[in-house]
Amino acid sequence: MLRLPSFRYLQPTTLRDALRMKAEAGPDGMYVAGGTDLYPNMKRRHQEPRTVISLMGIPELRRLEGWTVGTCVTLTELSNFPTLQRSHSAVARAARLVSTPLLRNMGTLGGNLCLDTRCNYYNQSYEWRKAIDFCTKKDGAICWVAPSSPRCWAVSSSDVAPVMVAIGAEYRLVGPQGERVVPAGRFYQNDGINYLTKQPDEILVDVRLPAADGWDAVYHKLRRRGSFDFPVLGVAAWVRWDGKTVADARVVLGGVASWPQEVPEAGAVLKGATLTDDAIASAADAAYRPSKPMDNTDFDLSWRKQMTRVYVTRALEELRRRRRT
Ligand SMILES: Cc1cc2nc3c(=O)[nH]c(=O)nc-3n(C[C@H](O)[C@H](O)[C@H](O)COP(=O)(O)OP(=O)(O)OC[C@H]3O[C@@H](n4cnc5c(N)ncnc54)[C@H](O)[C@@H]3O)c2cc1C
Ligand code: SF4
Repeated sequence: MLRLPSFRYLQPTTLRDALRMKAEAGPDGMYVAGGTDLYPNMKRRHQEPRTVISLMGIPELRRLEGWTVGTCVTLTELSNFPTLQRSHSAVARAARLVSTPLLRNMGTLGGNLCLDTRCNYYNQSYEWRKAIDFCTKKDGAICWVAPSSPRCWAVSSSDVAPVMVAIGAEYRLVGPQGERVVPAGRFYQNDGINYLTKQPDEILVDVRLPAADGWDAVYHKLRRRGSFDFPVLGVAAWVRWDGKTVADARVVLGGVASWPQEVPEAGAVLKGATLTDDAIASAADAAYRPSKPMDNTDFDLSWRKQMTRVYVTRALEELRRRRRT
């Protein structure tokens, strides 16, 4: 059995106290929300904070009002919220597709958006990793996936993040320097180690969803076990309609890079088009080309690449069906 290391657990009730506690703890301090990612990681010694600061007792982070969602709202709450189910169904659906009911009852939106990147050589016990002399992401000096590469290619595995990028949500962060709002797309960077642009002491406070006016979005997920697993491919597709024509579109891939990867070429193909079979096939082709899964998660990587075309096609076909009904 893997055991947690010992650590100090703090429960602030205000953002100000949480920031103060983090400043006092320094680099040895980490925030936690539901703990469904951080605690397993601590058991495997991926992260080793001496002080863990829970955000769950801060009322401001638990709000779900209008289009603003506090980051300590659980995935169950998010997926069951009636207004969101109607207006932002892709967000509710992505949250509902995360893992199992137990994990969704504990796991939060914020934890999902800040989820650590994953890799077959990293998501292993300390002893397993030690046996291969670790890897660049933690404790080692080589990337086993791409040994000649100076960077880490661990994969963004959040279900909700690609949807947030696709619909153009904004994230509000609070840190020692004050508050800032960033578009979801700029919160992530394509680096398996430094995968967030967020500073370690910043708290992700809430997510501002765009008003539901003339756009639609869907999310499709590929994984081995439908009731449980992380995505090995996620496709979030967003369309702004002008009658039956696509005024604007975004296609964002999860599970193929260290960040939710927008494919601007796929969006560009759809702009000004109606969603005919030909337009959908061209967009799926455009998404297929830059989709470069690495051999560091489940399934054969060339098959996962092939599935990009299939899943983008399915996502766009669903958008077309929804427009008709
Ligand atoms: C068996 C298993 C299966 C899973 N399957 C999936 C899956 O299919 N899809 C998926 O997307 N995820 C999956 N997960 C991962 C995880 O359960 C979810 O992503 C969950 O939403 C994480 O939220 P949390 O609140 O538990 O995060 P935590 O573990 O509390 O935090 C995760 C990280 O985010 C940081 N953090 C959390 N909240 C904030 C905040 N407000 N501000 C700043 N930093 C913050 C923490 O410091 C930590 O680094 C799975 C996990 C397990 C164990
Ligand atoms: S991609 Fe390479 S460096 Fe990153 S976790 Fe995997 S093996 Fe380690």
